[in-house]
Amino acid sequence: MGQPSVKVRIEALQPTQSLLAEQVQAKLKVRYAVVLLVAVCLSMAAIAIWEAWNSRHYHLHDKEVAMSNLAQTLASQAQASIKQSDTLLFSLVDRLENEGMGQAQMPRLQRLLGAQRSELPQLHGLFIFGEDGRWLANSNGANVPDANNSDREYFIFHRDHSDRGPHIGPSIKSRSTGEWIMTVSRRINHPDGSFAGVALATLYLNHFLDLYNSIDMGQNGVINLIADNATIVVRRPFKDAEVGTSVAKGPLFTQLLPLGNSGTAMVKSYLDGVERVVGFRRVEGYPLIVFAALNKEEVLTGWRQESLNSAAIVALLLAFLGTLGYRLIRVMKQQNHIQSVLLDAQEKLIEVNRSLELLALEDALTGLANRRQFDLFMVAEMGRARRSQTSLAMLMLDVDHFKLFNDHYGHVAGDVCLRKISEIITQNINRPGDLAVRYGGEEFAVVLPGTDYVGAFLVAEKIRRAVQLAGMEHTDGIEGVVTVSLGVCAYDPASQAGADDLVSAADKALYVAKASGRNMSVIAN
Ligand code: GH3
Ligand code: MG
Ligand code: MG
Repeated sequence: MGQPSVKVRIEALQPTQSLLAEQVQAKLKVRYAVVLLVAVCLSMAAIAIWEAWNSRHYHLHDKEVAMSNLAQTLASQAQASIKQSDTLLFSLVDRLENEGMGQAQMPRLQRLLGAQRSELPQLHGLFIFGEDGRWLANSNGANVPDANNSDREYFIFHRDHSDRGPHIGPSIKSRSTGEWIMTVSRRINHPDGSFAGVALATLYLNHFLDLYNSIDMGQNGVINLIADNATIVVRRPFKDAEVGTSVAKGPLFTQLLPLGNSGTAMVKSYLDGVERVVGFRRVEGYPLIVFAALNKEEVLTGWRQESLNSAAIVALLLAFLGTLGYRLIRVMKQQNHIQSVLLDAQEKLIEVNRSLELLALEDALTGLANRRQFDLFMVAEMGRARRSQTSLAMLMLDVDHFKLFNDHYGHVAGDVCLRKISEIITQNINRPGDLAVRYGGEEFAVVLPGTDYVGAFLVAEKIRRAVQLAGMEHTDGIEGVVTVSLGVCAYDPASQAGADDLVSAADKALYVAKASGRNMSVIAN
């Protein structure tokens, strides 16, 4: 069945591809913007967290260094303080071992001890004990005849150890003055090397405590002077009960000292369970360790405040950026929505235009192509025939005695008859490129591209016979039925003829058909 190609071309009209692509691109842009916004916000948050973590590390490290320095300074101070007294003890021991410990020497020794004690402010007292623990001489002047110190830790230590080095015992409350003191002692030997007694120097704990208390260690910082045997000699903050306590099971002795004589760490206190930033150091030449520690929580308080401030700034920035981004994305989405509404409208418009175009090209009564489409089609097809040097045939069809049909059966029946004839024409043209046209009134045209006279005449005859065989009653017509006459002509591509010439040639042939008795097809000459 033949289909008008102009119509086909109109029906093939689609909304422009570029507009659809633009819509897809706009949606992608929104997606990219969302991804970008999320990525920027996440990056900012990640940088802020990283910064805070680094700053925490720096704060703790800074305090570790400070504690290490403090431990070193305090170890030097302790060493200097003790060494002064120990030097005295050393020379006393030397003198007693060389000159003997007889009663005759004691008054002079007593005076010497008094004089030497007044030289050193940290020195609480100097004492000489015999091998049975009795007081032989002391720096306080008065001798206590019945006093015996054989029960003291330092006395027992020296009696049981032949070691000649200085010994630092647990801090004690002085029997003579009731004050807290540290003991530094040395063993005195008989010429045969047996135990002859003990020389003791006692140092005010306050000498150390005053210094320790003057250092800002925060609310919960500690400074400990600890003996090698893990007993606390001095502790700041000072508590009577803690003096002499053993911290042998604490982290200093179990974890840190096995690794080295000095260092820093983060450990939980054995005494109060508080986690601290620690610096420690052995006092050179003496069995003592200085331990300085700050409460980790206090160290981190400053950091926490700093981090909270910068977190607040970052949060503000993020909120600002988020709001801005959200609004931007909303505007983009609105634009996209408007664009898609416009596209929909455009699509509908194209649809309407297409329908209008079709209406403008179609005959309302028969649905065949109208005169306008015929004109367009002829221009295109004749151009093509000229270019490709192919023939183009045309039929012109007119219903016989149709005026009489109308007069007899009425106009409505006339219209029905015209519709039937148009169906018969359509059914009898076979190629997709053929076009059936209602040329005007009860006249039809058929354009047959690529067809010559002979082919066109055969088609004309087919239509003519089909109309006659349809047997539509027409009492005033030829043989009592509706018949048609046809004029056939073909375009010679070699000629300069135009569409009008072709129509007029077909018309002439039709006129001949009419004049020759109707119900026939005539080829134009
Ligand atoms: P001829 O055999 O010589 O063609 O005789 P005829 O009566 O057909 O003469 P003509 O072709 O001049 O007649 C045209 C008639 O066709 C006039 C009009 O009554 C009728 N006609 C034209 N258009 C229509 C239409 O759309 N509907 C109807 N019902 N009749 C139409
Ligand atoms: Mg006519
Ligand atoms: Mg007619």
